[in-house]
Amino acid sequence: MTDRPSVILRVEDEDGAIGFGEVWCNWPSVGAEYRARLLEAVILPLVADLRLIDDPAALWDRLTLRLRILAIQSGEPGPIAHCLAGLECALQDLMARRAGLPLARYLSDNASQSIAVYASGINPTGAPQTAERAIASGYRACKVKIGFDPGRDRENLLGARSLIGGGNRLMADANQAWSLPVALQFAETAEEAGLFWLEEPLAHDAPDEDWRALGKALSTPLAAGENFLGKQDFESLPAARSLGVLQPDLGRWGGIGQMMAIGHEARRKGLLFCPHWLGGGVGLLTSCHVKAALDDADGFVEVDFNDNPMRSEIAAEVFGTLDEGRVVLSNKAGIGIDDAAVDAFDAHLVVSRDVRL
Ligand SMILES: [Mg+2]
Repeated sequence: MTDRPSVILRVEDEDGAIGFGEVWCNWPSVGAEYRARLLEAVILPLVADLRLIDDPAALWDRLTLRLRILAIQSGEPGPIAHCLAGLECALQDLMARRAGLPLARYLSDNASQSIAVYASGINPTGAPQTAERAIASGYRACKVKIGFDPGRDRENLLGARSLIGGGNRLMADANQAWSLPVALQFAETAEEAGLFWLEEPLAHDAPDEDWRALGKALSTPLAAGENFLGKQDFESLPAARSLGVLQPDLGRWGGIGQMMAIGHEARRKGLLFCPHWLGGGVGLLTSCHVKAALDDADGFVEVDFNDNPMRSEIAAEVFGTLDEGRVVLSNKAGIGIDDAAVDAFDAHLVVSRDVRL
């Protein structure tokens, strides 16, 4: 990634209540502007027709149905799903603020006040030292990018393990880099490094049998979910691919309503539920509130450990509490940020559209 794009959707009702949602747009980063246009030209006019903003999850359902054929015909199920997901999150935040409750408590009376998080996006150059810095800054778990040269991957993971010690968790993300034979050769390193999970060792479109064969050969649990796109994927793939860890991204598909349902289902199936997020602070805070609403005893939210002021400054209040791998959520309404937090980035604004419904 050469930059860190964000599409922030801010909604405001006739009484002046606001809500924020973030639309996934990591790559290619030129797609950020396109998603803003897609919302303006195609999706928001439909919202004006449906008038379901008091029930964001139901609105998401209706819009998904309404746009199903267009998504197929245009060959763009991804961008459409990303826009609908971010919109659903913004409206849920608005509803929580209208109720005067933090988003987590708006979603569940049993929401926990603090959640576990882990440091992610650790690049191969200097990986052991970055992992060490993450632990020194308060994390108790971190994830290193692998899938490059096998020797270098091994060196990085064993190096990270030796620097962070045995008491902290270490994960690895191959980002779909391998074929089954290559992934099988990783078994020894995974074991030796004491990995807590191995993420996306195979491509999302690799056969289920390959995932199952790998799951059988490794003692390390397999993780995936960021590239799932649709209910069917979340229902069938965890079992079909022998996954131990499920990682949906609420800015890529489904928004909060679907994420809550997936989280409950994951617990029922005995899967570790670890929301994926690698964008700005709005989506990160939303992910943290969903995790808190599920009141899980285990699993944690992904936090990009690379520099990105739109993440670290927007989420500064919550992440300032980071201690022993946990953060304490704010008691402010919604996801807990105001206009000033987002307006602080006005100088970086590339496209802004004001749409009245
Ligand atoms: Mg990943």
